[in-house]
Amino acid sequence: MPAYRTRTASITCIIGRDTPIANDMDRIIDQFRDAPPAMLLGGDDNPYHPDGYGLDGLTPEKGRELIARMQEWNRKVYAAGVRFNFPYICNCHIYGRPDTRTGMWYLYDHWDEHADIIGPKPPVEPEQWMQREPDGKPHHNYPYRWLLPDRYELEGCVNNPHWDEWLQRSARFLVKLGYNGTFIDNNIHHCYCEHCQRAFHTYLEETYTPEERLARFGTADVSGLALETRGNKVLWARDQREYLERAKASDPEHFAKLMGTDDIDRCVPSEAGNGFHWGRSHDYWVDSLRKSHSEAEVAMILRTGDVSSLGIETPVQRCLWADTQKFWAWSIAKWHDRFHRALNGVCPEFILNPNWGAITGFRNVDSRRLEGKNVRLWANSQDIIFYEQNYLPCTLAPGYTLDLVIAYKYSNAAGARASVLAYFGLQYRALAELAMAEAATWSSDGIFIEARYKYPETRNAYGRFYEQHADWYAGRSSHARVGILYDYDNVHMENTYHIREVYALAHYCADNHILFDLFNEANVTLDELRRFNAVIIPHVEFLSAAGRNAILEYAAGGGKVLITGNTGVFDQHGRPVAANDAIERIRAAVWPDAPYAREGNIAAIGDIFQLLPKRVKEIHDIVDINPQGLFEKGVYDEIVEASKRETHNDARLATLLSELAGFDLRVLPDAPATLRVSAWAGDEGSLVVHFLNYNVPVSSLYGNIHEIAPEQVKPVPVENAVVSLPLPTGMRVSHVEMADPWHPDPEPLPFILEGGRVRFTVPRVDIYRAVRLS
Ligand SMILES: [Zn+2]
Repeated sequence: MPAYRTRTASITCIIGRDTPIANDMDRIIDQFRDAPPAMLLGGDDNPYHPDGYGLDGLTPEKGRELIARMQEWNRKVYAAGVRFNFPYICNCHIYGRPDTRTGMWYLYDHWDEHADIIGPKPPVEPEQWMQREPDGKPHHNYPYRWLLPDRYELEGCVNNPHWDEWLQRSARFLVKLGYNGTFIDNNIHHCYCEHCQRAFHTYLEETYTPEERLARFGTADVSGLALETRGNKVLWARDQREYLERAKASDPEHFAKLMGTDDIDRCVPSEAGNGFHWGRSHDYWVDSLRKSHSEAEVAMILRTGDVSSLGIETPVQRCLWADTQKFWAWSIAKWHDRFHRALNGVCPEFILNPNWGAITGFRNVDSRRLEGKNVRLWANSQDIIFYEQNYLPCTLAPGYTLDLVIAYKYSNAAGARASVLAYFGLQYRALAELAMAEAATWSSDGIFIEARYKYPETRNAYGRFYEQHADWYAGRSSHARVGILYDYDNVHMENTYHIREVYALAHYCADNHILFDLFNEANVTLDELRRFNAVIIPHVEFLSAAGRNAILEYAAGGGKVLITGNTGVFDQHGRPVAANDAIERIRAAVWPDAPYAREGNIAAIGDIFQLLPKRVKEIHDIVDINPQGLFEKGVYDEIVEASKRETHNDARLATLLSELAGFDLRVLPDAPATLRVSAWAGDEGSLVVHFLNYNVPVSSLYGNIHEIAPEQVKPVPVENAVVSLPLPTGMRVSHVEMADPWHPDPEPLPFILEGGRVRFTVPRVDIYRAVRLS
């Protein structure tokens, strides 16, 4: 696949989650009338919510009245200037109680009365639509007992024909209400039901050729293969009494409420929901390893993805477990496809914006990869992938800059457009602007979703700028010089340490002004590698034979490669590799912690963290902590204190990569790490360079972050940033001009061309500036 190419410019977006049925529509619209976003996630009520929420007591007459009201809402929203209006739907929750016949069960009992509005009654009750545990019990992502009287929660299975049919009908219903797209929440799938067991065979036949199946599973015949339970930490932990005792001891009252009993022998652990168990089961697993291993041994078990203690002993078992997770993501993607198809002919332009969850933290990803989340497998079945994060970009303390770059870059790697919602920090105008500009910087067509209507001037300035300078954003591809492989197949194979290296390297490149992209496991091809002057293959233990050959060929043709850790020790099917090629020779020379080896164009480092700035906590671990935990439990204080003694800049890796590439990869020789840069090339031979100042500190007001007045949080501007940018081969430059949303008319900048680079100075960056070279 060629580099991601944007089709449109960035746009503005708000998530309002308003309830127009119950409230004064005009008053809701008044909140954004002066600065309508291009996209509004603005309707939390729907007279026939597919999940059954709010349906109790609904009569067909009331249903028709509410439909008319929703149609009025949509007309008013578009008239106010919004281009895309999305409601909320969810493709797994089913609310209500079968015993009290509420929610979905109320609708089921009264279905025939509503049939001319919503179609015929499904032949089986909602209990038969559910995701299942391996033992056949209903599966729960969230607590079954939400602790609200009429709100039990079950999860529909997207491979179940009855749930699927009802959801497809709801797609057409959304068009009838006047929506032209939809947000889709959750997309969580973790099911072992009979429909999934059958669909797993289809997945295997679609994903692997007979030869590949033979190599992977020892048989091309899929009929004997089943969804794997070994390796599943939640299932493993829940089976152990000690784990349940520990879960109960941590908060007995909460445990009893979730389980409906405080008796460990009688409780059904799955009823607490997978989300309850995920972090606990991981921590329990690591603590259980510590009972029989030294700390160094535990660290090595985590680094090498050794999950033998979870029952995975052979490569075939590991592959079946990886494919079980990938099957869940494939199932969600197939469902998105069917949902799209249900809309074809009714509204071909209808946009799907499904929620992936949080992707910028280690544990965020390590939990979501178990529940149907895989960006590459989703990429072709939706229009914009939605990420939901805790933190807006900011600088917590020197050396501790939070960003959302992974969401944008990793989506683009799969060919997908990204929208990102973040919550903490929106009370600060500067951070909201930084987040808005970040979407354009890293993706060129990225969408930051504001969770408030607060900043109309900023939204208008950015919205107008994107429209006025659409060609600065649309029709562009990244001009990255370094590619970092983010191989999600490795994550599914339990090589989760790979995430730690990728995220640390991405932040390092951003801090050191190296133009970089992520690329994924489907793109370890000569074509993709040749986009870059150098590629980093970070601890990719499971490296496909084709990918390995592409890397070797790329290096033989002059491309520069840095491998780290235990890269290439296994093939994509988990089998040890017997090759004696350059990758194997230098891997063996550096693994696990030798500093450096090089053979021709391929270099290797054993432990990449020895070359990266030391932090008391890695950024990808900080963002896993929720804001309450970060600011109220001493973690923030610890970070601020550590930042005073730590060294934040370490040029060694940037120097090494530049030596490898044969030229200086750093674009801003003297700028602070918090000024970051990206560059996007257009077909007509122009280049747009984005400058983004993340130095919006909150630590200068060290104390209680909740007492910081919004106006105190503001950027520390960067003055006279000297730029020295390597140009695309053959590019001529005759004009350099600068603009930003607050100064939209381009101003010329003086420049010098020298040795394939262009040099110029950006006089000042408050938060964001763009420079166009043509
Ligand atoms: Zn299922």
